[in-house]
Amino acid sequence: MDVNALTDVGKVRKENEDNYLVSPERGLFVVADGMGGHLGGQVASSLAIQTIDQEIPLLTKECDPRQLLKQALEKANEQILKRGKSEEDYQGMGTTVTAALVFENNLYVAHIGDSRAYLFQKGHLRCLTEDHSLVNELFQNGSLTLEEAQNHPQRNILTRALGSHENPQIDIQTFPVEENDKLLLCTDGLYNHLPDEEIGELLGLEYTLKETIQQMVDTALERGGNDNITVVLVQYQ
Ligand code: CA
Repeated sequence: MDVNALTDVGKVRKENEDNYLVSPERGLFVVADGMGGHLGGQVASSLAIQTIDQEIPLLTKECDPRQLLKQALEKANEQILKRGKSEEDYQGMGTTVTAALVFENNLYVAHIGDSRAYLFQKGHLRCLTEDHSLVNELFQNGSLTLEEAQNHPQRNILTRALGSHENPQIDIQTFPVEENDKLLLCTDGLYNHLPDEEIGELLGLEYTLKETIQQMVDTALERGGNDNITVVLVQYQ
């Protein structure tokens, strides 16, 4: 597996509250976008990444990847809640998590919040995850048009995240993957500036993964860089 990743604070924020993990030997890739006042966001996303890193072993045939991912995210949730209760500065902190685990010819995705996983397969891009955000709910039930949703002032309000509930509702999905498929994980700082069509176009070009990611991040920065931007790109080989 070929992999590359990049995180950028953006042009507006002072802190980078995003975190990511790449572990090609385990086939484990994660992005997390933290939120919460005074350093809470950084702490929540890094606690999530550390916990998942500790909880996911090198997979064997006896493992159940879906169960492992679910347990890892639940453990991360516990850690964030615990830390939030013990230190006043961290009260109410939370984080998104989009975690991908590749084993044999399957991709397992565990997801909560509004970061995203995309799969680029045979020249076609699809978003594998659903945004757990208020604006997406309003868009899905027809209350907002796509354009209204994309420009909505409250588009950062999440309906689900780690750190907000004792029993987080985590989406777990499985997808078959083949050689040359590309997996993209990113935080909203990327896709709020880069529509899916452009992401698909860039993934279709003959760039290295590093060049592709740099191009994506540069474009998001040119368009304002309103938020932290994190991108993890993986190609199966
Ligand atoms: Ca963000």
